[in-house]
Amino acid sequence: MDTVQKVPEELCISCGMCQGVCPLSCIDMIRNKQGQYIPQINRDICVNCGKCFSICPGKGINLQEIYKTIYEKEMVDVFHGNYHAVINCAAKDKEVLKKATSGGVVTTLVEKLLQDEKYQIAFLVDTYNYEQQISVKAYQKGDVFTNTFKSRYIPVSQAAMVRFCIENPNEKVIIVGTGCIVESFCKLVIENKLNRKNYFIIGLFCNSVLNYNSWEYFARMLKEPLKELRYREKSDSRHYFYGTICLEGNKGRRKVINPGKKMLVKPYLTMEKCIYCFDRLNVLADISVGDNNTKSGDGSSCSVIIRTEIGRQIMKHYEALFDCLDTVLERVSKSQQIKLVKQQYRFAKVYSLNKKMDILCGMNDCGNEKVSTSDLNELDKRLRRHKFGSDIKNLTKLFYWMQIKWILVEVINYRRKLTKWFKNKIR
Ligand SMILES: Cc1cc2nc3c(=O)[nH]c(=O)nc-3n(C[C@H](O)[C@H](O)[C@H](O)COP(=O)(O)OP(=O)(O)OC[C@H]3O[C@@H](n4cnc5c(N)ncnc54)[C@H](O)[C@@H]3O)c2cc1C
Ligand code: SF4
Ligand code: SF4
Ligand code: SF4
Repeated sequence: MDTVQKVPEELCISCGMCQGVCPLSCIDMIRNKQGQYIPQINRDICVNCGKCFSICPGKGINLQEIYKTIYEKEMVDVFHGNYHAVINCAAKDKEVLKKATSGGVVTTLVEKLLQDEKYQIAFLVDTYNYEQQISVKAYQKGDVFTNTFKSRYIPVSQAAMVRFCIENPNEKVIIVGTGCIVESFCKLVIENKLNRKNYFIIGLFCNSVLNYNSWEYFARMLKEPLKELRYREKSDSRHYFYGTICLEGNKGRRKVINPGKKMLVKPYLTMEKCIYCFDRLNVLADISVGDNNTKSGDGSSCSVIIRTEIGRQIMKHYEALFDCLDTVLERVSKSQQIKLVKQQYRFAKVYSLNKKMDILCGMNDCGNEKVSTSDLNELDKRLRRHKFGSDIKNLTKLFYWMQIKWILVEVINYRRKLTKWFKNKIR
């Protein structure tokens, strides 16, 4: 029998959902050369129940079907999802805002919901060290939020959260996760007949995660072993919209990097599954939260899509904690480049056809998305970059290639600035 192993390795997003759901705890997550954590099943114990396979987001999950089952409504548009309202907002607490990824919406809500005992437990990430696979940890009322802030652009294991929800079906739990996690969790709710009303799902917008080789990649930029890697650091952000990348070493060395360096290497270190993903706006969540890309400012506010009645009530109840402005979905959609997300849907179509594996799970042809030659060329380019970058053997080459590319980028930028300055002088 091959259960999770029916999912090709390249589609595994290292989410740990299968590990959490396994009733016999017979799954270990083992790191491969591509920087993924892949489930390894102990065949001596496995009873072939299929639970791990059924909730795996890697093989694809039918968003429309899940939505209909859970919410008893049709999802009008699979790329945007259903919603009540769309707002841009930022936490009024300046301390939270300074430490948070963008607007501090997630931290503020989780802290208050636990404090007010509306939910008993929340599963959050609380480390900046990626040496081992990062796992979510349980937070309760009274716990201090020190290391939870900021996005980790890496797959986080949600096994602990899944296990808790199965073992404690009556507890009220807050779940924070990217689209693939939320899809898988909703499937878990259906399959295990859990009460959806017990969960407040905060979905993060998401366009990719990097594999765990990215830790070694960034470690090369610091001349001592890396202890912490923090994306979106605002404390010494040199007016970059997305903050800086902060590296801290074991012996106290600290280095701050331009976030453009992550953007440069991203196509090489992105997990393959993300190339086929089209749930950027996290359509199954109660509220979906992302960076407010609709304004060019200091990166200190979030775009929030309020999707469900629970989401609406919670945002209304806590509105005094935020500075909010109404906006429209079209603006958020444009700022999140949904055009490119639709292209990724077409990439998934190509994958399904080529590999004879329906990773769209029989979803309707959303918006009649036809595959073009330029899609095929783009997919080919992305896969080539991914293949090169995800091989640990190429990490040194990749590192030096990116250093050279960065110098070229700097030279081009400098030339642009110089030309602009010169033109102004002539005028
Ligand atoms: C992998 C990833 C990709 C993203 N891509 C986009 C994007 O393309 N566009 C966009 O607008 N926004 C994206 N976001 C969302 C954005 O970065 C912020 O998380 C969001 O705006 C919330 O900001 P905040 O200030 O409220 O978060 P904070 O108050 O700082 O709280 C962040 C919360 O996220 C949790 N968290 C951090 N990393 C992970 C993770 N990997 N998995 C699960 N939970 C995690 C932490 O536990 C914490 O509770 C992404 C986030 C992640 C994790
Ligand atoms: S559930 Fe997650 S970790 Fe397990 S095989 Fe699927 S994608 Fe990989
Ligand atoms: S098939 Fe069942 S017992 Fe076997 S690994 Fe999957 S969940 Fe565990
Ligand atoms: S891009 Fe999609 S598959 Fe990749 S981590 Fe984000 S939600 Fe999951």
